[in-house]
Amino acid sequence: MEGSPERHSKKKVVAVVGGGLVGALNACFFAKRGFDVEVFETREDIRQAKIVKGRSINLALSHRGRQALKHVGMEEKIVSQGIPMHARMIHSLSGKQSPIPYGKKGQVNLIILSQNTSLLFAETYPNTKLNFDHKLQDWSAETGLMTFVRPDGSTEEVEADLIVGCDGAFSAIRKQFLRRSRFNYSQTYIPHGYMELTMPPINEEFAMKPNYLHIWPRNTFMMIALPNMDKTFTCTLFMPFEEFEKITTGDEVIEFFQKYFPDTIPLIGADALRRDYFRLPAQAMVSVKCSPYHIGDKCVLMGDAAHAVVPFYGQGMNAGFEDCIVFDEIMDRFNAVLPEYTRVRVPDDHAIADLAMYNYIEMRAHVNSKWFLFRKHVDNF
Ligand code: FAD
Repeated sequence: MEGSPERHSKKKVVAVVGGGLVGALNACFFAKRGFDVEVFETREDIRQAKIVKGRSINLALSHRGRQALKHVGMEEKIVSQGIPMHARMIHSLSGKQSPIPYGKKGQVNLIILSQNTSLLFAETYPNTKLNFDHKLQDWSAETGLMTFVRPDGSTEEVEADLIVGCDGAFSAIRKQFLRRSRFNYSQTYIPHGYMELTMPPINEEFAMKPNYLHIWPRNTFMMIALPNMDKTFTCTLFMPFEEFEKITTGDEVIEFFQKYFPDTIPLIGADALRRDYFRLPAQAMVSVKCSPYHIGDKCVLMGDAAHAVVPFYGQGMNAGFEDCIVFDEIMDRFNAVLPEYTRVRVPDDHAIADLAMYNYIEMRAHVNSKWFLFRKHVDNF
């Protein structure tokens, strides 16, 4: 391989492009099998970063995701960094809180911290090398040669035996697929966006009960709050873009919260609300479906790169984790692993995308009902 001397190795090299949740887990799966694994991540190493950029959303880990973590010996490590959730807590307009336990007795859902810390668990395997500040620019399906751009504008070429595209919903790896014949692709943006707001601790304790998924269902709006290990809550406001855009001043933010989420104003803080609402614009949510997930024997897509789903089923990451375990199982049983992975996985991932979109559409069609009613059968919400 080109680039650096330590890359001269006889073992098969697997390049995982994208060090998000799915890329990190995938690196563990391939490393466990003895491959030399190189992960290429466009972001800098957060251990050296002065400011950690990017989304901070925390995610509910379900049984599906836990199974995959268990497979590579990471379940306990990750779970110990999470906060167990036993029930949802519904906040009415008057401020009344009503718990709704999850279906099965004793069932616990877990929150894990998202993108910011996940990649580091891949380092547990010595045959895994993390390459931060490597942004994939281009790659060849014929040779497996990838070109990465470095922060100083220079480029670096790296070759791999297998390229695993885990670079998220706007995947650069997938762009090559789009140029090929017989590649099916569709993407749909929904009219809702989401915005994250932080609820700080009060007297160094959680401002609300921590072992709950807090939900404020408000017809076409909804806010949820999930606890973090640092005793903050991440509140996520889901709302149509046009409603986000109607609010243009700090006073209007407070007016809006006073009308729909009055109990959260003292907890988030009026000044913080006035400021943080305008810190970042509301983020879009996209559903991506494609097929096949592979090109020849050189490249395969997993996670959001293969199937971004809207978050109303709470299974995007969990489905990505399941991709890893399914691929691993296929490696045990088939020679033509990549086509078999496409054959088995595409229908299941498309079904999850449809269920997530169905939940969203149902919810919009019944604007007078509560959001959570449409999600009550879903483990995570
Ligand atoms: P990502 O997490 O997007 O990671 C992709 C990585 O690739 C990033 O680190 C990025 O920096 C890197 N990258 C991108 N381009 C390049 C490039 N050119 N070169 C190198 N690196 C690159 N799922 C759940 O299971 N449970 C939940 O509760 C849940 N809640 C959600 C709530 C919200 C509001 C949203 C938006 C999503 C939610 N999801 C949930 C979905 C979940 O966030 C995604 O499915 C999951 O993050 C996908 O992981 P990934 O590793 O495939 O992609």
